[in-house]
Amino acid sequence: MSIVETLASLVAIDSVSSSLPGGPGERELAQHVAELARAAGADVESFEVAPGRPNVLAWVRRGGRPTVLLECHLDTVALDPMPDALNPRVAQGRLYGRGAADPKGSLAAMLHVLRAAGADPAFPVDVCLAGAVDEEISMTGSRALAERGLAVDAAIVGEPTQLRIVTAQKGAVRWRVRTHGVAAHSATPDLGRNAIMDMTRALAALAAGVEPWLAQRPHPVLGCATWNVGTIAGGSAVNVVPDRCDIDVDRRLVPGDTSAEVLHHVDAALDALRAEDAELRIDRDPPYVDIPAIETPHDAPIVQAAQRAVAAAGRPTEPMGVAYATDAAMLSGVGGIPAVVLGPGDIAQGHTDDEWIALDQLEQAVDVYRMTCLAFAELAA
Ligand SMILES: [Zn+2]
Repeated sequence: MSIVETLASLVAIDSVSSSLPGGPGERELAQHVAELARAAGADVESFEVAPGRPNVLAWVRRGGRPTVLLECHLDTVALDPMPDALNPRVAQGRLYGRGAADPKGSLAAMLHVLRAAGADPAFPVDVCLAGAVDEEISMTGSRALAERGLAVDAAIVGEPTQLRIVTAQKGAVRWRVRTHGVAAHSATPDLGRNAIMDMTRALAALAAGVEPWLAQRPHPVLGCATWNVGTIAGGSAVNVVPDRCDIDVDRRLVPGDTSAEVLHHVDAALDALRAEDAELRIDRDPPYVDIPAIETPHDAPIVQAAQRAVAAAGRPTEPMGVAYATDAAMLSGVGGIPAVVLGPGDIAQGHTDDEWIALDQLEQAVDVYRMTCLAFAELAA
């Protein structure tokens, strides 16, 4: 099967995240990847991260050599608004379809490297290909991989970076804050307690607990940490004193930040507010998103190996940082696996109504991944 045929077969399978409305999830794609991996000579295992959502692991393992993890997520964003999202179409040197760039181009190239490793007993590294569920929403798939303690020496995470090497990325912690008041008729507000008015005070306290630390660790590429209050909800009618108000807070992390430290400062600020007013009832929920920021040192063998490979392909070698998070956050930040993010296609086309990947870049990705493996074998020896 050619790389274009492999990619077309991946795009034709609907793997919209089942965390999204109507999304079937990753099961069918995981089965297809498992079949392709078995045909490549790999040992395949899969395990469910959630019901109907299996991670798939495929090993070409001969022992006594370094092991490179090739990791790619299986899920995509919704098919809408892309027309013909599941009918891969080749035109003008591109393949169009949902997931063509994000992430199935990377997955196809990784499958072809797995096949090269399976066919060549002298391939100098052992290869583990991992297809992970749920990258687009919660990263539970890569978290499960990280927590499993995979016996690998380094990871390449496939995302559309236009074959640029990404070594640094921001993380994110998100949590909800809630004020509890006492409902009353708005004609007699003194009988109640207004949770929305309490939230305005909580917002000021939160700002005091977050903003002084945003510029604490400016990163040369990623810049400073940021925060955003993204939602607010409370009250039922204009003539009722609201008994509840909720907000959702997003704090982006830069390398060196930890969610524990962020929340420690937040809690201290909320405690100070509570100390001013014993009647105030305010809760800070545990975070529902907690993705570490990561940075892989430029002298790490996987970075140097990737640099050799992209140089040989005539592409820029300077490592980059990105403001978004990928599965590398879990593999590296939780699992301690040195990782680079590297793959064909452009993130600008991901998640749009016009998703495509350039076929020359797709083909080059197979060489870049394979050569990264070869260089890693030398550098890690
Ligand atoms: Zn992606």
